[in-house]
Amino acid sequence: MTTEAFDVMVVGSCMTDLVSQAPRLPKAGETIHGHKFFIGFGGKGANQCIQAARLGANTAMVCKVGKDFFGDNYIQNFKDNGVHTGFVGQASDAATGAASIIVNDAGENVIVIVAGANMLLGSEELQKALPAITHAKVLVCQLEVSPQTSLLALRMAQENKVKTIFNPAPDIPDMDPEFYSLSDVFCCNETEAELLTGSSVANLEEAHRAGQELLKRGCASVIITLGPQGCVVFKAQESDPKYVPALAVTAVDSTGAGDSFIGALAFYMAHYPTMPLEEMAQRANRVAGVSVQAVGAQTSFPFKKDLPAQLF
Ligand code: ADP
Repeated sequence: MTTEAFDVMVVGSCMTDLVSQAPRLPKAGETIHGHKFFIGFGGKGANQCIQAARLGANTAMVCKVGKDFFGDNYIQNFKDNGVHTGFVGQASDAATGAASIIVNDAGENVIVIVAGANMLLGSEELQKALPAITHAKVLVCQLEVSPQTSLLALRMAQENKVKTIFNPAPDIPDMDPEFYSLSDVFCCNETEAELLTGSSVANLEEAHRAGQELLKRGCASVIITLGPQGCVVFKAQESDPKYVPALAVTAVDSTGAGDSFIGALAFYMAHYPTMPLEEMAQRANRVAGVSVQAVGAQTSFPFKKDLPAQLF
């Protein structure tokens, strides 16, 4: 049996978002009536994988959901987006990761996240995926599953010369420094850069300083995303960081913008391995810039057909 060579493999999380919209947030012990409910597909890992797939990457997701309705539903969502599901495990002893979200009319929210089956993703699933990981072009990890699982996946990739993207999100205290040396591209937003360096990242100059500091910790390159301002790219072998501005757009919802950016970056790294990183970042800015013009995370992620031909 030959092992399929995937462009992009993502080892990470799946979360079902259960969103209720209500006039106000309920107090403790109170029951109120909301006016809208919907279920959304989320989780940083799954979001990034689905954005890469929608741009045309041959993708596989390595993750764990529950043996429940939400798990079955999520697997179908991957299939609908053309993502390979052979490495999606179903746990019988934990529920699919879920985020219960209540949003009031002022746009404020309260959120409870239960990671559930995501935390059971471990070495067993990675061993099963190892033959595919060794043949992949790009492997992407975040921190919404056990950090040990992400570390092991990144080591497997690096040992096999597979390019790695690591997204240190959500930020965790005392992140293992091995993550830096395992990252071909260490991609984070301003908040994460601030927490990792302990210094403010509120403007370009501070972003430059933070990026240089993260580079020094051993990454081959660093990208710090700056919301509407775009991003800054740092490479170990170049002394000058490159600022890559985003196009001005009318943003309606930036949920998942960072995941859209990383999914797009993974697509470009797999398809155009010799393209300069700042060119990939510029194109990823364009893709993520489309995602902020629609509501939701995966619901807002563009397909190849929706984007200008010069991005391909
Ligand atoms: P996160 O979602 O992790 O907070 P950012 O807010 O930094 O990440 O956004 C990631 C990327 O999405 C940016 O680098 C940029 O390309 C794009 N983006 C985000 N917000 C906007 C915006 N208002 N206008 C244009 N592009 C945006």
